[in-house]
Amino acid sequence: MPGPQVVPVEGDAHLPARVDVVVIGGGIIGVSTALELAERGLSVALCEKGGIGQEQSSRNWGWVRISQRDPREVPLMAESIRLWRDLDRRTGRDTGYRQCGIVFASSDDGEAASNAKWPEELGRYQLPSRIIGPAELATLYPGLKTDIKSALHTAADGRAEPQKAAPAIAEAARDKGVHILTRCAVRGLETSAGRISGVVTERGAIACDAVVLAGGAWSSLFAGNAGIALPQLKVMNSVIRTKPIADGPEVTFYDKDFAFRKRQDGGYTIASSYDNIVDIVPDSLRHMLKFLPALKSEWKSLRFRISGRFLEEARMARRWQMDEETPFERCRVLDPKPSEKWTNYALAELRKSYPTFANAEIAQRWAGYIDVTPDAVPVISAIEEIPGFHIATGFSGHGFGIGPGAGRLMADIVTNRTPVVDPTAFRLARFYDGSKIELFSGV
Ligand SMILES: Cc1cc2nc3c(=O)[nH]c(=O)nc-3n(C[C@H](O)[C@H](O)[C@H](O)COP(=O)(O)OP(=O)(O)OC[C@H]3O[C@@H](n4cnc5c(N)ncnc54)[C@H](O)[C@@H]3O)c2cc1C
Repeated sequence: MPGPQVVPVEGDAHLPARVDVVVIGGGIIGVSTALELAERGLSVALCEKGGIGQEQSSRNWGWVRISQRDPREVPLMAESIRLWRDLDRRTGRDTGYRQCGIVFASSDDGEAASNAKWPEELGRYQLPSRIIGPAELATLYPGLKTDIKSALHTAADGRAEPQKAAPAIAEAARDKGVHILTRCAVRGLETSAGRISGVVTERGAIACDAVVLAGGAWSSLFAGNAGIALPQLKVMNSVIRTKPIADGPEVTFYDKDFAFRKRQDGGYTIASSYDNIVDIVPDSLRHMLKFLPALKSEWKSLRFRISGRFLEEARMARRWQMDEETPFERCRVLDPKPSEKWTNYALAELRKSYPTFANAEIAQRWAGYIDVTPDAVPVISAIEEIPGFHIATGFSGHGFGIGPGAGRLMADIVTNRTPVVDPTAFRLARFYDGSKIELFSGV
């Protein structure tokens, strides 16, 4: 069974001739932006080359967390938590959101010190978070064999169902009048007097005043064809989905050897933090200088490999005309082969440490490509070179939880409203204006 089973969203049969805004990409960022814009009374077309939520947004671990985040993202994540709490009501659908809490174990003094900062930081947002010891750990995870001395427990953190959330938001956007166009790759932008005037899709042209590119791992390729440099690479991560487990823990857990999150179906999504595979591809060489600081700081957690992906991407067109088939049409869904080695490792360690999981059965495995920027902070930005063009991408492995807030911020920028948080840290220009590339050294 390839990939996770995403709630299907049927695409509209007809393409509108004109809308106010075209959103490219039907992941959590694109659908959240489209819903926000439609709620403000704008006409919107959302174009997705495959199906809604079929790439990263349905493949992720399902963690909605504010703890252990880059401080530049914390205000936007606090807004996202507020939005998640109301999202089922707002969409009229089930996103699976629950404020179940997340525990980050402290394996050594460095991690303990990094965890210790969070209760005070989150206290500013009235979000509960505290350090707990072995006795409380044993209450949350009865039977867990561990020598962990302390852990960060953030009750404000939560989970949602990745296979349900983006489809629920897309359907709610459709209720508000958004045209949901699936199997509708956008080939490129059209401009008039230097401003955005429309897009060309594989199914025809749509006139518009603004475009939001929320193309996940494809954004750099798309932007490059429009003459905009966007430094972005891909990291692959794999997960196991188990069959239901009786009396399993509610609170999501992270330790260096394994991480787990309860699913709505009673099973668990299990993964390993060692499992960050980087395929060396032509873009690795193109963007190498910008990613050097990230390479230095994340070296130990990344596994580099040369695979067939190098030739695949080398053969991919980087420039094309609007009447040509594009790479977006040739690959409807990025569906990489999961790593058996690291998923097996995570499950074996979990089975050994925690009797509740001793007989856990694997129902499915999948992998996803995470799109990352040089500082692991997203780009949520208007693009000065092409007025009317905007980019919301590069969520670097933590875009699911922040998705609703990112959609709100992107909509604020498109509609010139006072932004919900200061967007300065998310501007694309930071990679080109001489700013130092700063990395957060958390989990
Ligand atoms: C294994 C894994 C675990 C993760 N765990 C977590 C987690 O626990 N918590 C968390 O917050 N985040 C997590 N993430 C990260 C999170 O999933 C992503 O940051 C987030 O889903 C990104 O959303 P997106 O909408 O930007 O991208 P995507 O979901 O990838 O969507 C982009 C969409 O754009 C479409 N597209 C691209 N180009 C075009 C085009 N030209 N025309 C039309 N459509 C186009 C693509 O088909 C795709 O559907 C994880 C990711 C992975 C892979």
